Amino acid sequence: MALLAKKPKGTADVVPGKSYMWHTVEKIVSETAQQYGFKEIRIPTFEDTGLFVRSVGETTDVVQKEMYTVSAAGDSKFTLRPEGTAGTMRAMLENGIMNEGFPQKVYYILSCFRHENVQAGRLREFHQFGCEMVGSASPRADSEVIALAKSVLDRVGLQNIELNINSIGCPQCREKYRQALREYFEPYKDKLCHTCRDRLDKNPMRILDCKSPEDQAIAKDAPVILDYLCDDCRQHFEKLKQYLGEMKIEFSVNPRIVRGLDYYTRTVFEFITTEIGAQGTVCGGGRYDGLIGELGGAQTPALGFGMGLERLLLVMQKQGCDFIEEKTCDLYFATMGENAVGKALELTTQLRDEGYFVEYDLVERGLKPQMKYADKIGAKFVVVLGDNEIDSGNAKLKNMASGEQTDIKLDASFVDTFSQAVIGEMFSGLEAEVGNLFGKDEN
Ligand code: ATP
Ligand code: MG
Repeated sequence: MALLAKKPKGTADVVPGKSYMWHTVEKIVSETAQQYGFKEIRIPTFEDTGLFVRSVGETTDVVQKEMYTVSAAGDSKFTLRPEGTAGTMRAMLENGIMNEGFPQKVYYILSCFRHENVQAGRLREFHQFGCEMVGSASPRADSEVIALAKSVLDRVGLQNIELNINSIGCPQCREKYRQALREYFEPYKDKLCHTCRDRLDKNPMRILDCKSPEDQAIAKDAPVILDYLCDDCRQHFEKLKQYLGEMKIEFSVNPRIVRGLDYYTRTVFEFITTEIGAQGTVCGGGRYDGLIGELGGAQTPALGFGMGLERLLLVMQKQGCDFIEEKTCDLYFATMGENAVGKALELTTQLRDEGYFVEYDLVERGLKPQMKYADKIGAKFVVVLGDNEIDSGNAKLKNMASGEQTDIKLDASFVDTFSQAVIGEMFSGLEAEVGNLFGKDEN
């Protein structure tokens, strides 16, 4: 029979055998964020559409083409979040977190939704790890946030990731720059894509972020923002570069990055790899000093980044990075008959309370398929329980790796005897590793 449903285009399932990869990344990103003093925030999957239009910006690709907007009964319009910053700022304002002293530092791991052309590393539902720092206008905050992103990338084991930074100035310096861009693009107006023709008046900086190759070719020689920065913005950028140098974080200044969301001011940055094709931006972020004011809060400087976790995982797999191994079964009870099941249930409960990973037959199968199953799940030990074992109160504990069998009593001593065997197994594993090390050194 044909399946009745398939996953929507641009979405992905994480199957049980692969979820350990996500666990690895989630553990590393949240531990690193916490070590930098960031606390987790959780926000709704959808928000009022107006929130994203206001914050991400009316002339951006995200708002113009990529939002999933649903209307509920009545007239309210909601949008599935295309990114995490807007909702996070809304939540921080609504919960009075901005009144609790600065800086406020939060992180999140969440799904985002964008109606995009699906490609490797470009999905319609994807996941971001993001950090936001609110309440500091200092370039120290910029270098700190970049350092956090860099630590995460280092700790998951990525290599050959490049950091590009730029400053896109403040509204004052940007006005002059916009004018220069309009003058530059005006003669090419008819050659630009439809969207960009429209942007020429409203928001010419967006043209620099257009993905169309023709527009990119035209934009190649456009004036660069760095030549238009006011003294304060220039100084901010110089300090940031100095701090990055002091933290030994390598970077390139790339005057071409403007980022795809309108709320950025001053610092913008991207971590890029060339190893997963065109979708090489693993992390993007920057400062958004105007956003909180725009959302009705007091003018408050802030900044942050979003890291695409699917892209991160693609690079990790490509580069053969290590993942945290999943726990495997410590003990499997192979049972024959109801009496044996009774004993297995009793012992399993005790062992699980001690923290062991224990399984027994749930399908009511014969001994052979049970042993096959124990092997398949990688059980470290097996105890076979039948009428003989129950009557005598004695069983055999089989070490599946060595095949070695030891006696084990089915009484109150079971948990202790089993613990000894597990410790013994751990030590023999360690000894083998140490032996290997010494063996290598002698050669
Ligand atoms: P791009 O230029 O690749 O479209 P963007 O500028 O739209 O990226 P941001 O809005 O800054 O991206 O989002 C931050 C990060 O989220 C990106 O650097 C990327 O890693 C990830 N990301 C963005 N869109 C997608 C998507 N459609 N699928 C998977 N990951 C994505
Ligand atoms: Mg995009």
